[in-house]
Amino acid sequence: MLKFNRLVSGGIITNYYCSSRCRHCVYNSSPHWPKDYMTAELADEIFSTLRKLGCYAVHIGGGEPLLNPKALLPILKSAENHGIHIEYIETNASWFKDIKSAGDLLTELKSRNVNTLLISIDPFHNEYVPFCKVKGLIEACHKFGIEVFPWLMDFWSPLDAMEDTRTHRLEDYERLFGTGYTLQLLRKYPLNLKGRALNTFKKYLKTFSVKEILQRSAPCMELTGVHHFHIDLYGNFIPQSCPGLSIALRDLAKGAAPEKYPVIHALYTTGIKGLYDLAAREYGFVAKESYAGKCDLCHDIRRYLVRDSKLNLPDLKPEGHYMFE
Ligand code: SF4
Repeated sequence: MLKFNRLVSGGIITNYYCSSRCRHCVYNSSPHWPKDYMTAELADEIFSTLRKLGCYAVHIGGGEPLLNPKALLPILKSAENHGIHIEYIETNASWFKDIKSAGDLLTELKSRNVNTLLISIDPFHNEYVPFCKVKGLIEACHKFGIEVFPWLMDFWSPLDAMEDTRTHRLEDYERLFGTGYTLQLLRKYPLNLKGRALNTFKKYLKTFSVKEILQRSAPCMELTGVHHFHIDLYGNFIPQSCPGLSIALRDLAKGAAPEKYPVIHALYTTGIKGLYDLAAREYGFVAKESYAGKCDLCHDIRRYLVRDSKLNLPDLKPEGHYMFE
């Protein structure tokens, strides 16, 4: 049974709602999600659980966490109360208006022990966020004493080659830098090919028959990672490599019991074949001819279970992951 007696480092997803719908987003965040935000009560429970499991530092991400600073501040207070260090807050800078108003927020964050912002710099975000906002936020960070963790500086030059007061599609990058630029992002950006990222890039990937994938099935040890997990605003623990799968925070230490978490149990004990057999036998899942590997098949089965079979399982949360692809 999959259980976690120790966690090292992870992230807190305060909201899935986002100003962008990036093509590389593994959590399928977008403006289509409800504007739900993590409560301070849940944050208390999360930070207290993390300390018990030996994790004393997290980052905060989303969605775009700085779309609702009023809701974020009590969460930072809770982290402080529990002795949890906030390594950085991820932001796409879409909320930036001017140095003065950004400075007010940065000063507030600093007073809550936030010293670093991870600021997205890449062509995916540039489809939604003009680069001038990113530049403005970086300038404000320098002025108000907040460290910048640029993600990634390698893209500064291509972004800077475009007009910075408006957004640009990946197709614009293809026109300027040549056909194949999107494909090159597979090498240039450290992508986790899950969620929307997999949908975006699977046309470039080698495909395998279902038979081949099932023959190679082995227990998915990817579910056991403790170095980059996430916990979301609904109290779901999301394994580091497998967005769309979840264990309720309260079940983490006692374990994902097979009868309550049949999907996780099948993947953890048998692998993709276990999930495929379960879905075909119990819910009439019919696979396509080929997939871009086991994770593509895994996602297709899970999407079917949530969207077509309307299953309400604690290991397939949040449903929005499958509804807002
Ligand atoms: S097959 Fe599913 S559980 Fe296994 S690594 Fe891929 S996404 Fe994760």
